[in-house]
Amino acid sequence: TAKPNDIDAAVWEKIKDHPCYSEEAHHYFARMHVAVAPACNIQCNYCNRKYDCANESRPGVVSEKLTPDQALRKVIAVANEVPQLSVLGIAGPGDACYDWQRTKATFEKVIAEIPDIKLCISTNGLALPDHVDELASMNVDHVTITINMVDPQIGAKIYPWIFYNHRRYTGIEAAEILHERQMLGLEMLAARGILTKINSVMIPGVNDEHLIEVNRWVKERGAFLHNVMPLISEPAHGTYYGLTGQRAPRPIELKALQDRLENGAKLMRHCRQCRADAVGLLGEDRGKEFMLDQIPGELS
Ligand code: SF4
Ligand code: SF4
Repeated sequence: TAKPNDIDAAVWEKIKDHPCYSEEAHHYFARMHVAVAPACNIQCNYCNRKYDCANESRPGVVSEKLTPDQALRKVIAVANEVPQLSVLGIAGPGDACYDWQRTKATFEKVIAEIPDIKLCISTNGLALPDHVDELASMNVDHVTITINMVDPQIGAKIYPWIFYNHRRYTGIEAAEILHERQMLGLEMLAARGILTKINSVMIPGVNDEHLIEVNRWVKERGAFLHNVMPLISEPAHGTYYGLTGQRAPRPIELKALQDRLENGAKLMRHCRQCRADAVGLLGEDRGKEFMLDQIPGELS
């Protein structure tokens, strides 16, 4: 497809075959995830650890936890079957930057076998600044940070605790540290030309109005895209995901907020949450076909 006039050539090279960064590419290119990063260093009030990172998941889907070697086998199997595969993402089920050794080992193994695949990660940002240089040296061009607040007062309502520098922090102090690390990580990525997508979870009554300000902050610091996604809840089962009982936004509330952000960082409404083991084009999921027990043989 042709480069749109308003996008610079270097950026176009990075997004033209990444389905989550280009409206066009998402019709033609596929991404896959490998769930190699189970550990997480923060607690989001809306997280249900029984499933994938709730930032990035649909309810009720448990991913298959893989070692880096198993992940390599899976990526090779998918690459052989899905010619549109262009991107390998690590989106949990915990945090890809906190569980860094497993993320890094997976990327290194995959790149040694499939050098032209694009690497992508999704993170809460707390451990991100420690790994930006390594991400750059592994040619990771795309990072998603989940940012739900820029005001620690609001953050304290979303995050009961974080684990940082070998200790646990709670309340406003925890939210302040998380906020500073997220902004630092974003600035460091922008300075290295790594495209950064911000995902925000819209939590009615907690951060819905506030996401306008989040949008302004991340745009000023070089975010390429800003997506707002709804808090996931499961009313059909009589339970909400929010540990503190928040409801999910109604579709009309979500759309109204997205409309107000339209002039801020660019919005990609086709964005689907990055489930930790999804495989395929956005909107389809072939993950089940590629569970490890479906893949014949060990690689010799
Ligand atoms: Fe759960 Fe993801 Fe939040 Fe960690 S960052 S607590 S895995 S939703
Ligand atoms: Fe990257 Fe998220 Fe897309 Fe996965 S869904 S490839 S982590 S942007």
